[in-house]
Amino acid sequence: ARANDKMMDSFIYTPEVSETISKHLALMAEVSEGIERGDFLMHYQPKLELASGKVFGVEALIRWHHPERGWIRPDEFIPSAEHSTLILKISEFVLREVIQQTSAWQKQGVYLQVAINVTGHDLLQPGFSQMLFDLLSEYDVDGNWIEIEITEGTLIEDIDDVVAELLKLAKAKITVSIDDFGTGYSSLQYLYKLPISLLKIDQVFVKTLPDDEGASHICAAAVVLAQKMGIKSLAEGVETEAHLNYLRELGCDYGQGYLFCKPLGADEFIDWYRSHQDHEQQLG
Ligand code: C2E
Ligand code: MG
Ligand code: MG
Ligand code: MG
Repeated sequence: ARANDKMMDSFIYTPEVSETISKHLALMAEVSEGIERGDFLMHYQPKLELASGKVFGVEALIRWHHPERGWIRPDEFIPSAEHSTLILKISEFVLREVIQQTSAWQKQGVYLQVAINVTGHDLLQPGFSQMLFDLLSEYDVDGNWIEIEITEGTLIEDIDDVVAELLKLAKAKITVSIDDFGTGYSSLQYLYKLPISLLKIDQVFVKTLPDDEGASHICAAAVVLAQKMGIKSLAEGVETEAHLNYLRELGCDYGQGYLFCKPLGADEFIDWYRSHQDHEQQLG
């Protein structure tokens, strides 16, 4: 709050500032209306073990279908929503939708670990972890099927409070991963304090593999860091065989990306999953 006060002292209103603020407010009003209207849905993208090609989990990604503007990407509204209490409304929708889906899949005999994206701000809201626990019991889903992905960049403040919340989740067997690793500001000291089980290497470092020396070194270092910490590593944005082969050589545990499957609606995802499993059995 003190840092905020200081910022406000030197805050100068210009026409540009007020335009940015009104754009932000208009967008937030639209998100709010969109939630009421039922514009939002979830897509799912598989996470694979690189050595075997087996699917072990899936990440839930929000999608917004606006009646006039069509599809709006999460990068266009999540960062803005993170600066308001609206992120909680979004997360409430996401948690219910995803836990309900997890339960429905389990009734069909499909048991996968399902990852949900949340921000550091969400975690620090009073009642957030309770909401999660309530939904798990409402839909009769065990906590060990749920994983929380926290973007590295949203972890800057109140790290001790974040750790306390994550320990509460850990008691319910919910696991935690660090998303977009390498692009945030969290120091390695923070990383060591957090009860995490997976490092997700940001796709910017994967995109230029294997030719870009800088990117390869960062991927290699992240894989070794995860190994030393006794946790797993996952590469985001695996798009080519060349990416895959290089990541396998590095000893990266898992991968996600268009090479395997893009994010799909729940039913489409299950179709893909079943045919992938058949294929796996043929290979084995
Ligand atoms: P993220 O969690 O790092 O998700 C990975 C993004 O990479 C997703 O974008 C996914 O569609 C995309 N992606 C997957 N494979 C590939 C690939 O091979 N190549 C490329 N170029 N991209 C790939 P998406 O769905 O647009 O989501 C963007 C970000 O928005 C997410 O990044 C996450 O930070 C945020 N987000 C998405 N859904 C939610 C949500 O339900 N809640 C919150 N709080 N944030 C969300
Ligand atoms: Mg994620
Ligand atoms: Mg990411
Ligand atoms: Mg991201």
